[in-house]
Amino acid sequence: MSTTIMVRAEHAAGERRVSATPDSVKKLTAAGATVLVASGAGAGALLTDAMYEAAGARIVAPDEPHAADVYFHVRPLEPAEVAALPRGAVTIGTADPFTHPESVAAARDRGVTMLALDLLPRISRAQSMDVLSSQSFVAGYRLVTMAADAFGRMFPMSMTAAGTLAPTRVLVLGAGVAGLQAIATAKRLGAVVSANDVRAASADEVRSVGGTFIDLDLETADASGGYAKALGEDRARRQQELLTPHLVTSDIVITTAAVPGRAAPRLVTAQMLAGMRPGSVLVDLAAESGGNVEGSVPGERRAVEVAGGTATLIGARNIHSDLPVDASKLLGMNYANFLVPLLTDGTLALDFSDELVAGCALTHDGAVTQARIAELLEGAAR
Ligand code: NAD
Repeated sequence: MSTTIMVRAEHAAGERRVSATPDSVKKLTAAGATVLVASGAGAGALLTDAMYEAAGARIVAPDEPHAADVYFHVRPLEPAEVAALPRGAVTIGTADPFTHPESVAAARDRGVTMLALDLLPRISRAQSMDVLSSQSFVAGYRLVTMAADAFGRMFPMSMTAAGTLAPTRVLVLGAGVAGLQAIATAKRLGAVVSANDVRAASADEVRSVGGTFIDLDLETADASGGYAKALGEDRARRQQELLTPHLVTSDIVITTAAVPGRAAPRLVTAQMLAGMRPGSVLVDLAAESGGNVEGSVPGERRAVEVAGGTATLIGARNIHSDLPVDASKLLGMNYANFLVPLLTDGTLALDFSDELVAGCALTHDGAVTQARIAELLEGAAR
């Protein structure tokens, strides 16, 4: 029997993305699935009900429960939403389980299979399904346009009849997918860009997109899966000390450092911030997960006192949603690229010996299937 997929309308304030687009609906229906789309689900990304219908989806009322086998979502589901799903349903989306363990518990208790695309192993087969990469790519671009908007100067060195303008100096801290895209974007705008990261491969990656790597002569800190591990207290403090002179000579600082499953590393203290030049701008992508910059508040742009004036500190909040059209286009394809190989004649058959399925499954058959989350939930229940 054809598997039915329900594409919900995201209801979180300010969320404009959607988990399927007409292009991804075509891909899903071509593989034999049936797709239901909540009326208005694509409005924030300029996708109308008529476009979805033309692609083969059926439009359904947005606020009613609909019987489906698979539920697509962009934002993590609320526990009450999970509890209202049919037993045995499969959810596919970003689950952020360390921040939302109660939704994982609800899926366990309801017998729902929760597949978290944010936990997909980062192997080459998963690249086209990788929502973290696609959304970080969008975020990296947006960070630079936010910084440019708040900065009182142009980026490129310019020689004009009226005089010469100096180039803007951009410093990017954390050079993962978002950081590398920020470097490339700032570079394209004409800035002089430098960057630092703690992974061994990052120096070459920074250079490959046109940045200058700042080697702090700290030991590298690689964890498995291409991620960084947290620095010990001493090394973290040393990193702050070594970064301080680079902050003082930067016009714009963009921070994107993250360690999976932990609070964001603190790279810039209030004291370091106070040493920056008047007019400088800091944008902190990690504001929602603890902040790379002390004092950054998600969604807020504020003036910070520095010698001789103020600097601007911007805390990012759900910035992928600022570019909902492209963010949704990439997300929609991530979801379809994940699901289509799991369909046989349009019917979903989950194979838990597949490392992609096992890697992203949080719950199945009434049990939590990821050890770290199971431990977290057991600890909370004790
Ligand atoms: P992320 O969002 O977890 O972290 C962002 C960056 O912060 C990382 O580069 C990390 O090294 C850095 N960081 C952590 N602590 C830091 C500190 N104290 N100071 C400075 N930087 C710090 O990472 P991400 O963007 O998801 O990417 C992580 C890695 O995974 C990268 O190497 C990326 O190239 C790789 N990746 C591989 C695939 C694949 O399919 N093979 C896909 C996506 C990403």
